[in-house]
Amino acid sequence: MITHNCRVCGAVFESTRRDAMYCTPRCRKKAWAGAALIEPLPTLPGPVEREVRSILTSLHLDGADDVARAALRVAGAIDDPHTPASALAGLTKVLPETLAYLRETHGEEDL
Ligand SMILES: [Zn+2]
Repeated sequence: MITHNCRVCGAVFESTRRDAMYCTPRCRKKAWAGAALIEPLPTLPGPVEREVRSILTSLHLDGADDVARAALRVAGAIDDPHTPASALAGLTKVLPETLAYLRETHGEEDL
């Protein structure tokens, strides 16, 4: 399930659809009838991005490292409900490879 905010009433709801916008058929109808839509909330880091951030922190890396920054962008794209499903397969493949590279190049120094 994916958590969304209803674009009409702002209620938090869950849907299996990545592109769900309304909590109920009632709100969908309101939107069709011309109700003012609420802008989506600025997105907090999703679960994948949070995980990558904690890995980067443990490697003493931050956004200053080009590869670390790329890993965060990929994580953000995986979390983003607007990322097309067709793109996710490639992204979820590239992320562990990127993290493995970072561990190899930065992970051993502190051991
Ligand atoms: Zn609603």
